Amino acid sequence: MNYEFNAEFARRLDEQDELKYLRKEFLIPQHNGQDAIYLCGNSLGLQPRAAADYLAEQLKVWESKAVEGWFEGDAPWLSYHKQVATLTAPIVGALNSEVAIMNSLTVNLHLLLVSFYKPNKKRYKILMEAGAFPSDQYAVESQVKFHGFDPADAIIEVSPREGEYTLRTEDIILAIEEHKDELALVLFGGINYYTGQFFDLQAITKAAHQAGAIAGFDLAHAAGNVPLQLHNWDVDFACWCSYKYMNSGPGGISGIFVHEKHHGNDKLPRFAGWWGYAEEKRFLMAPGFHAANGAQGWQVSTSPIMLLALNKASLGIFTRAGGIEPVRKKSIALTAYFEWLIKNINLKHGEDVFNIITPVDPDARGCQLSLICRHKAREVFNYLTQHGVIGDWREPDVIRLSAVPLYNTFTDVYNAAVCLYEALNKLKMNNL
Ligand SMILES: *Cc1c(COP(=O)(O)O)cnc(C)c1O
Repeated sequence: MNYEFNAEFARRLDEQDELKYLRKEFLIPQHNGQDAIYLCGNSLGLQPRAAADYLAEQLKVWESKAVEGWFEGDAPWLSYHKQVATLTAPIVGALNSEVAIMNSLTVNLHLLLVSFYKPNKKRYKILMEAGAFPSDQYAVESQVKFHGFDPADAIIEVSPREGEYTLRTEDIILAIEEHKDELALVLFGGINYYTGQFFDLQAITKAAHQAGAIAGFDLAHAAGNVPLQLHNWDVDFACWCSYKYMNSGPGGISGIFVHEKHHGNDKLPRFAGWWGYAEEKRFLMAPGFHAANGAQGWQVSTSPIMLLALNKASLGIFTRAGGIEPVRKKSIALTAYFEWLIKNINLKHGEDVFNIITPVDPDARGCQLSLICRHKAREVFNYLTQHGVIGDWREPDVIRLSAVPLYNTFTDVYNAAVCLYEALNKLKMNNL
């Protein structure tokens, strides 16, 4: 497409946007009496307008039925989590039985590692991307130590080549092959939180399996952002949070995926709790754990109904959008325009002030763009914030901006680009 750097062009793109009606399903934060330009859905998605009603509905059940709410009404709490799992499954490309909605993300990562990281003397290593999200690093380190291994020896990190910011799939596969006799697990982010790189999960899974290892993914930045085919890709396990691209509120509930092929395996170790017990017999309260079928068998504690309600409110929007595919289609267009605008700012300034480290290939990224700012990065970021453009900052010089197709517009990214341009002009003019 022949893009243009002007408001009228952005407005025309908005007009043609088939998903434009979804924005009004969200509450947009305000800045000086106007909608802020919120480009931070990679950290916390916006509040669905329906969220308050979904919460109120469950508060009402609690009020009017109290404990009977578990068994009575249109959506008894006892099986409420299943409705949320069913709404989530198509977004991550899973069978309904492969998804459970429970706990928080890092907690779930630990629970899944208990089941799927089963090191022995020969195979005990975990291969990860260098610079994985800190919580994942801590989780993996502590799991390795828990099994009596030394993280410095047991954790292999794959780094970008000299002078590059993102990983090449061929290098990931080579690293897996190189360590194939010692690998217990390949654990990657779906999309790296820092660079925005979307890894080739299918290729990584295949290589892991060829090496005789398990393939697991943390999809915090991928779920609700890019279409996934976890079942068809033969991924062993995955987990994600729902507060980033799934818009379920701060600290919102997490989801897990366990591939069907592992469901019948009662030799998998797991940390059990009564909510994972075979449903028909759960309330017999008998000794001895019998896991429920499927991913549900990994549940531990009583479902947090309020968090599930918030997740359900948000998932309804994906359903109304027609699923993740049309959302992704808009996302690709939105991010492509944003990328062009940023490159155009570089042209206007006659130098590459903004170095986009996120891959250029749309298949290798989601909606996030990570920019290294070569001129007064922190000041540029502060200027954005002061002018109502909400992104996020990562030391030492990276600005992350995500145009989320459910609620951001082409005008949003245009206005954000104008703000970036003005920030540079002001800072340069004042020789700051
Ligand atoms: C956001 C994020 C987390 C956060 O985990 P919580 O347990 O929800 O705090 C963990 N891992 C990755 C990769 C993330 O992007």
